[in-house]
Amino acid sequence: NSAGQAFSNQSDADPTQPSTRIAVASALSEFTAPDAVTARIAGTEVTDRTTALPGVDPSSGKPLYTWQAVGESEVELAVAAGLAGADRWRLLSPQERCDVLDAVAATMQSQRAETIAVMAHDAGKTFHEADPEVSEAVDFARYYGRCGMSLEPGFEPYRLVVVAAPWNFPYAIPAGGVFAALAAGASVILKPAPETVLVARHLAEQCWAAGVPDDVLQLVLTDDDSAGTRLITHPDVDAVVLTGSSATAHLFRSWRPGLNLHAETSGKNAVVITAAADLDDAIRDLVRSAFGHAGQKCSAASLAIVDGALLDSTRFLTRLADAVRSLRVGAGYDAATQMGPLVREPEGDLRRALTRLEPGETWLVEPEQLSGNPLAWSPGVKVGVQPGSHFHLTECFGPVLGVMRAAGLDEALELQNAVPFGLTAGLFSLDDGEVEEWLERVEAGNAYVNRHITGAIVQRQPFGGWKQSAIGPGIKAGGPFYVGSLGRWPTPADDL
Ligand code: GLU
Repeated sequence: NSAGQAFSNQSDADPTQPSTRIAVASALSEFTAPDAVTARIAGTEVTDRTTALPGVDPSSGKPLYTWQAVGESEVELAVAAGLAGADRWRLLSPQERCDVLDAVAATMQSQRAETIAVMAHDAGKTFHEADPEVSEAVDFARYYGRCGMSLEPGFEPYRLVVVAAPWNFPYAIPAGGVFAALAAGASVILKPAPETVLVARHLAEQCWAAGVPDDVLQLVLTDDDSAGTRLITHPDVDAVVLTGSSATAHLFRSWRPGLNLHAETSGKNAVVITAAADLDDAIRDLVRSAFGHAGQKCSAASLAIVDGALLDSTRFLTRLADAVRSLRVGAGYDAATQMGPLVREPEGDLRRALTRLEPGETWLVEPEQLSGNPLAWSPGVKVGVQPGSHFHLTECFGPVLGVMRAAGLDEALELQNAVPFGLTAGLFSLDDGEVEEWLERVEAGNAYVNRHITGAIVQRQPFGGWKQSAIGPGIKAGGPFYVGSLGRWPTPADDL
């Protein structure tokens, strides 16, 4: 029973301990993908589809399993079952819901190595990327369960919430949306990205095994076709929690103009490095921020805005180039890998960023497509990115970092704030005056000083954006108001 137990963050597994390495190595070697991944609606598997869609191992580019998308009629069944589930789930006390979420957290924690193995195969994640995702998911379960207990009387949870989850954090992000809705007292339909349905299925199974009822959490797999549209536009869906691109958020809104959408969307995040920076810290953490999970994070560093004097001395660029070239690129499940594969073949802005230079730009490190796998790319760094250029202002979501020159903090801030997004931002400077000024003026939901700009921690660093990085109420995930945003609050009119 969770009564009275305060929330504290789950620590990551310690890779210096032999027990961690043995557990992960054996989970990786025992991993076998199922032949078929299916949706589950009110406890019933959807297995009668004639089309089998491919699930790919990004590290090899080869098929790993097949999965089956649902049709519109299954969406109707899921909505009806979800509403029935909600009518029971909302009658539990917040304490009872918190207990279920604590049981889910315990299951997730006890299956940490297995989950890392699933993410390595389905999402190309290395240990260092997958392991904190498990911690974050555990944190979401425990933290949101406790947030649910502090909702004021009169709070009316939504009945049915759809969580549309991305492939880049295929475990922690769906977990966060699902647990927030469950803690609020809503029932949930989880619709994962088509790229990582195996991770989503693994998460859902952990929830069901730990006591989340079959109709209170359902897994709907779609290929963003008519069934996906039906799910988002269904009038009985009270809210959609989306983490994805701004384009997807606008698409959902175009399908259903009045949609109650809680979306965390794109970023174009910059790290400012002033002449007063500690370069050992700055280069290490910039490389981590730019190339962790091959840059496929909305929080990733895409720009380094560097003081001109540092660029002229060449110290900075030589060290950056060496650090980036030294990254070992490989399979997610290979313990030596520092940067794993892309999850989707690069197209659009990412292909352009990987293969083209705009006027004024040159490659410091040219990215290359490796081996026969279209998903295997080495990291790239371009210098000379010009103010107002395509690369300056556009999210690319992959392993490319652009370096821009600034004459001082003032100009650096102008370049940093010129982007249409405002998700994460970084500053490296040991000058207190610069730090104070930067914190005052930077336009970002999450601003980090002298550290990497990815990996926000539940409760300590509620995560969410400004400007075009948030569409909807813009309530930060992992913060105190998130659960309460998934329902209706009493208004003065209710007392009349
Ligand atoms: N919360 C993650 C972080 O702080 C980013 C989430 C995302 O990329 O969607 O790195």
